Parts: sequence; C-alpha cells; structure tokens
Amino acid sequence: MATTLFHNIIFGPIQSRRLGVSLGVNLLPAHGKWCNFDCIYCECGWNAGRRSDRRLPARKQVRDALQDKLQSMQQRNTLPDAITFSGNGEPTLHPQFAEIMDDTIALRNRLAPHTKICVLSNATNLGDDRVFHALQKTDKPILKMDAAIESSARRINQPQGGYAIARVVEQLQRFKGQFTLQTLFLRGSFDGVRFDNSAPGEVEKWLEAVRQTRPREIMLYTINRDTPAQTLQKLTKEELLAIAQKVAAVNTWGATLQVAE
Ligand code: SF4
Repeated sequence: MATTLFHNIIFGPIQSRRLGVSLGVNLLPAHGKWCNFDCIYCECGWNAGRRSDRRLPARKQVRDALQDKLQSMQQRNTLPDAITFSGNGEPTLHPQFAEIMDDTIALRNRLAPHTKICVLSNATNLGDDRVFHALQKTDKPILKMDAAIESSARRINQPQGGYAIARVVEQLQRFKGQFTLQTLFLRGSFDGVRFDNSAPGEVEKWLEAVRQTRPREIMLYTINRDTPAQTLQKLTKEELLAIAQKVAAVNTWGATLQVAE
C-alpha cells in the first residue's frame, strides 16, 4: 500500500483526468489525514495512524500561499485550468472553509480570471449553511455519492458519524442541479463481506438518487491508484460505459457525463 499524503498547502499543478491542469489546495493537516469518511479506496490511506497531526493551515497561510503560487504562474504564463480543494481529507471540515472560499474567489478574480474553482467534497457537511453557500459560490462543487444503498455506502465509505442517504439526497437537491456528482464504482471484499456497487440493484437505486438530484454533471470513475484495502477490484472501461448508458437513458435534464478509468 503506497498511499499518498500532500505535505504542503499548495500542491501541483497536476494533469487531472477530470479537471485539466489543476492546482491543488490542501486545507487539512500537512502530515496526517482528517476525514469523516474512511473510504476503503482512499488515496490518503486509513484514518487510523494518521491522526497524530491535526494542525490545520490558518486562513492567512492559505491565502498567502495561493497568492504566491498564482502570481508566479501568472508571470510564467502557466495559469491552471482549475484550483482544486482536495488534499488530505474532507476540505469542508476546515472551520474557516467559507472564508477561505471567499479569499480564493477574490484571488482568482484578480490573478486568474479564467481558472475554475473546484471543491472535492464527500457531501456530509451540506447541512451547515455556511459550507453549503460557500460551495454554491464555487464553479464546480464535486460531491461524492458512491452508493444509494445505505449498507453499501457504509461499507465503501465507512462514515465516522451519522450518515443517511435520504439526507444526502435532500441536501444535494438544494443545489438545484448546480453541482457535479462523483461516483466511484468498484467491487471486492472488505472485512470478509463481498460488495459490488456496480451490480444492477445498486445501480438502479443510485440512478433513482441521480434522477432526484439532477446534477448538471456526473463523473463516473473507478480505482486508479493504490488503495488502503488490498481486496478491491477496479471496473473495466466497458463496465463504466455500460453504467453511463443507463444514466443516458434517464438523463432527461441534459447532464454532462464524464467517464474516467
Ligand atoms: S471522502 Fe475522500 S478523503 Fe475522505 S476518506 Fe473518502 S476518499 Fe478519502
């Protein structure tokens, strides 16, 4: 297992499968993961053993680091397609997430007006209005829902607190379609139990949640890097495309579909 942590506030830019040239921002600890999920495929590894460092970057540190990086990229004429909040866990857990989004929007408008602001989130904090409104202000809130059957979501994402699919669907509906839904499909076993969120019954329930929330964009993908659990299998491109076809069959509202292996 060679999972990855990001040791700086700003990382990259990297060529992203989904976002183009993407400059990463990590609002989580520099040497530990902090997330209220513990996904069995998480590229940052397990929560356990990575909790020793809980220090978060201050708002000013984030603003200064991003400003420095954008200024140097501007001078070299290499501004990124996206500024993407991801990093070592769930970005919306940062207590100043909303203020940091405001700072980022101001910096982007001043230094990189064509760059999109993206946030990868597990959609667990949407009940916090400050988080919800901050996400609404970004160009691309990318919100995770890997399964619409509760037991599968619990197995795949291992939420650390209360988690209810109906509540997540309700919160996603508040975006009125102005979000990207991100779902990772995989199969395998974990703790001796087999699972497959691409099985027909799973996809049917998930499609129901898709129809209820009507995201403007849907990203389907599968495992692409090392995972903390060693008993997982990625889907083939053909399998992902077959799910995409099922989405296309119900997609009456014109969502854009992205499929990445
Ligand atoms: S939500 Fe993201 S950061 Fe959190 S455990 Fe899952 S993959 Fe890792």
